[in-house]
Amino acid sequence: MMMHSRYGLLLVWLLVSGCRDSRPAAPPVGSAAEASRPVVVATIYPLADLLRRLAGPDAEVHCLLPPGASAHTFEITPQAAMALNGARLIARIGPGADSWLDAVMPQPAPRVVTALEHTKTIAGVPCEEDHDHAAHDHRHGDPAGADPHVWLDPIRVRDDLLPALVAGLREVLPTSAAGLTGRQAELAKELTALDAELRRTLAPVRGDGFIAGHNAWQYFCQRYGLQQVGVIELVPGTDPSAKWMKELTATARAKQARAVFGEMQLNAALADTLAKETGLRVGRLDPYGGAALAGRDSYPALLRYNAAELVKGLQP
Ligand SMILES: [Zn+2]
Repeated sequence: MMMHSRYGLLLVWLLVSGCRDSRPAAPPVGSAAEASRPVVVATIYPLADLLRRLAGPDAEVHCLLPPGASAHTFEITPQAAMALNGARLIARIGPGADSWLDAVMPQPAPRVVTALEHTKTIAGVPCEEDHDHAAHDHRHGDPAGADPHVWLDPIRVRDDLLPALVAGLREVLPTSAAGLTGRQAELAKELTALDAELRRTLAPVRGDGFIAGHNAWQYFCQRYGLQQVGVIELVPGTDPSAKWMKELTATARAKQARAVFGEMQLNAALADTLAKETGLRVGRLDPYGGAALAGRDSYPALLRYNAAELVKGLQP
């Protein structure tokens, strides 16, 4: 009996001290309310970072795609999908990027903001003729075959995505209207400055061509006057045929590509191989970034990282 109650006390002590230890050393004001903040979810990190900046202290933002994963090859686990429970808003890119969300969409669905529905898209690159179309997340020949990488253009983000995200947030955070308007204006200003900065950074390599790990850079190139002249993984996550790699070597020469960029979320070694074959410089681009990735842990940082990497690879 004595043993039992002492054991019980020990348990209580462990539970209490465990709770205390798991809290931050200096709990921020209102941390008790933090647990009950409305939850909003984004499929990829750039969207999550934008949501976080827009929602400020008024919502808790979760990101479904973990750092280092590619949205094209990601398969969501039931555990990861738990983050969607009780979410008031989900921000996604749309077909070609995060179709895996469809299978785990809560019912009834919360408010969803789909980026591709709010901006002008350009067509994706066609795949090799003889591949299995059913095996990947591209739909050829219909409007959903649009290039989904719209977030890599900060002006599209400022003018098209921010208003759509804010409209969604306004609906699910009705008491935050004033804060949202203020933070949107601030973020828009920051993106205008970022665009000007990227323009300056990339000016020395304007007009230059490169081979990309996959077809992620059309919007970025269009904005900053660069040329993605070829891509290694036509179907991201699937190694290309030897025939395609040979063609790409020829394309690199014919179109005077100056560098090859692999991507850490895909098979970057293919870029190294191609660089060896063509004698071109090799670098690494990153379309996603992530919370734990130093230098790529915010939307502006991510774009700066890629611009710097492009300059490093393309400069004479
Ligand atoms: Zn992609």
